[in-house]
Amino acid sequence: MKANIAFIGLGNMGLPMVANLIKGGHRVWAYDLQPEAIDRAARLGATAARSAVEAVQQAEVVISMLQTGHQVDSLYVSGGDPLFKHLAAGALVIDCSTIDAATAKATAAQAMTHGLDFIDAPVSGGVAGAEAGTLTFIVGGTAAQFARAQPVLSQMGQKVLHAGEHGAGQMAKACNNMLLAVQMAGTCEALNMGINNGLDPGVLSEIMQQSSGNNWVLQHYNPVAGVMDKVPAAQGYSGGFKVRLMCKDLDLAMDLGQTSSSPVPMGAAAKALFNLHQVAGHEDLDFSSLLMLFQKVNRP
Ligand code: NAD
Repeated sequence: MKANIAFIGLGNMGLPMVANLIKGGHRVWAYDLQPEAIDRAARLGATAARSAVEAVQQAEVVISMLQTGHQVDSLYVSGGDPLFKHLAAGALVIDCSTIDAATAKATAAQAMTHGLDFIDAPVSGGVAGAEAGTLTFIVGGTAAQFARAQPVLSQMGQKVLHAGEHGAGQMAKACNNMLLAVQMAGTCEALNMGINNGLDPGVLSEIMQQSSGNNWVLQHYNPVAGVMDKVPAAQGYSGGFKVRLMCKDLDLAMDLGQTSSSPVPMGAAAKALFNLHQVAGHEDLDFSSLLMLFQKVNRP
């Protein structure tokens, strides 16, 4: 099925997702608060919209890829000109942002009052996954909504997984990203210790990948410059997944831990490390730049 799609939020993730929708033959109307992001989407073949309201005029499907729950709530429900009022009844709204489950559930409830289908569908796989169309979508919503969204999500990802009812996608994503933060912190710590003992980081990474320390960061996202091509570490930690967004995700995980009385000592340790790195002025660097924190401590 080829659909008319409005895409809101054309940042590091949104833009390559738009590129894959266009490749798949969908018609895309693109909007972002930053005009240069809209220009980039137009160069890919999207129609530039001057506002979110303009973007959804002909939309059967709306996809948002914003930073926070506040932005999502404001766009659809509580802002100056809420988008839900402008959508044709029956439209499908897919929010791919990583946000809190409470906002996802409340937005889904509001969508229902407007006769709209809404799902939370945060993603895993990073910018490289968005570019390659190999993202994993983690969906919260009814079985019927999940089935309805599957064809369009498959255009941007390899795996579309149903976590449960509304909000479940966001809860599963918070669990995953807490684990990712722990993996990144542990991998930086181990690589830094190896380097300080004269080991070659490429050789050490290969050894750990072939051993029991193997993990996603070592396989796809090595934090040491020069070990892998096409990762943020190879580009001065630009692009990728911003430190400020990982701190936001760790806040979401801590909230989830607290409301469910679940102990999260490893997540809390990772949060402390990423927060230290953020307040040192690195909030817009990729999260693999956490390595710098370890290097700073042992090289005064
Ligand atoms: P980003 O900061 O690069 O892009 C977000 C974009 O949203 C910006 O261009 C911003 O101008 C735009 N925006 C914000 N409010 C808007 C509004 N009301 N209307 C229109 N545009 C608006 O962030 P990103 O890295 O693309 O991440 C987006 C989401 O995906 C975040 O929730 C993040 O946690 C999640 N995520 C990111 C990655 C990654 O590797 N970057 C991976 C998985 C999930």
